Amino acid sequence: MSIGMASGITLGAYIVASIFFILSLGGLSSQESSQRGNLYGMAGMGLAIAATLWGDVAHDDVVRGYGVIAVAMAVGAVIGGILAARVQMTSMPELVALLHSFVGLAAVFVGFSTYLDTNVHYTGVAKTIHDIEIYLGVLIGAVTFTGSVIAFGKLKGIIGSKSLMLPARHWINLLILVACIYLGYEFVHADEIDAGLSRLLIMTVLACLFGIHMVMAIGGADMPVVISMLNSYSGWAAAVTGFMLSNDLLIVTGALVGSSGAILSYIMCRAMNRAFLSVIIGGFGTTRSSGSGAQEIQGEVVAINAHETGELLSNIDSLVIVPGYGMAVAHAQHLVSELTKKLEGRGVKVSFAIHPVAGRMPGHMNVLLAEAKVPYDIVFEMDQINKQLANTNVVLVIGANDIVNPSAMESPDSPIAGMPVIEVWNAHHVVVLKRSMASGYAGVENPLFYKENTRMLFGDAKESIEQVLGAL
Ligand code: NDP
Repeated sequence: MSIGMASGITLGAYIVASIFFILSLGGLSSQESSQRGNLYGMAGMGLAIAATLWGDVAHDDVVRGYGVIAVAMAVGAVIGGILAARVQMTSMPELVALLHSFVGLAAVFVGFSTYLDTNVHYTGVAKTIHDIEIYLGVLIGAVTFTGSVIAFGKLKGIIGSKSLMLPARHWINLLILVACIYLGYEFVHADEIDAGLSRLLIMTVLACLFGIHMVMAIGGADMPVVISMLNSYSGWAAAVTGFMLSNDLLIVTGALVGSSGAILSYIMCRAMNRAFLSVIIGGFGTTRSSGSGAQEIQGEVVAINAHETGELLSNIDSLVIVPGYGMAVAHAQHLVSELTKKLEGRGVKVSFAIHPVAGRMPGHMNVLLAEAKVPYDIVFEMDQINKQLANTNVVLVIGANDIVNPSAMESPDSPIAGMPVIEVWNAHHVVVLKRSMASGYAGVENPLFYKENTRMLFGDAKESIEQVLGAL
């Protein structure tokens, strides 16, 4: 087979793989079609790997490297398979952050090896463009790598969720930016490989520090934006790598991930009433008044037991369930689904309210409810449910905290001020299921627990619901 024909077939396979990826993204946009979306993604990726390997058969280097590639893929597949099989739903966001860091690191490695590849000879403008591609790929890759590692640490709780506020933080960022631009100029104009390499290395260290500083500065409840932003960065890093390697499919795939991540970041910011730039520049989430809320809160905490909750639920027409991160921790979703069926069987109108940043990753609650086979048509978004709450008999808040915190609306000093929340206190009765009076991810006190119509059902959410079911 001629090389021309082989590359024609490869190109065709790349186009089909790109279509699979687009169908995959389309599928992932709704719960009903998400499984199909995943299958499209897997098919696209399988085809992409096969086409890349096969398409380069004529290329000596890759033929020689087949053994290494096979071993690397086998090791990666085994590690990935074990991790995916073992990961708990609560640890999924950390895993995603870690995977983003791998994409960033890969972009850095590919950038360095491309620069050091003695088989590549460009001159004039082509060399300048190629060098810029390398520089940008390594820059975005390094920021993504360390930023994602810090995000992983924050989500796992190894690093505190509060923002690190260095006194001259904006100046530090500006200095790094100026240094990177200067080093980039020097890198592109370097005559010797050694001179270019030293610039590239210094920039990599600076970009790594920038990634750490950027994510450390983002605190409180603003982390969702960072997660989706790093997702976007990993896509752009892959796209630039595609330019470096002249691989069209990598460019398309990277651009798809980059732009969908950017759109998600925008949606997250809108959901949290934050300006994107302000979040990225950092500083939200701590300095304003994380502790002062405690003294200002009026009212007292009234506890309720499972039996009383069962009695309360026995005499109602409508119930709204607000799930949060604690439902994932407790693995309570199946029992919540059972409770829903039981109450619906008694003629109660049950609805679920999903906040866009509930849990620890976008769509976290939707995934849990889908797993527990809760019908999609009773699951509503925050804006839809907020209108109905005044006419709702009871709201069960199951392991949610920040997303139902009235101080976001009432206290301009609160670190989560301005974030739209589910206004559960407008319902006739609110029962909050949690283990203690501890605060949520943003570390903010919640006045909801002190309101007159709120009752606290203390304990693990799964055990509490089991007891409520028994009482019913
Ligand atoms: P929160 O983190 O605000 O609150 C969760 C609550 O669940 C805690 O107060 C905890 O209280 C309770 N809880 C924990 N374990 C259990 C259990 N076993 N049984 C019962 N309750 C339990 O969660 P929300 O979902 O309300 O809000 C999400 C927060 O996470 C927001 O601040 C958001 O910005 C942030 N975030 C979201 C991301 C996303 O993409 N969705 C990503 C990163 C951060 P107690 O210990 O007393 O039981």
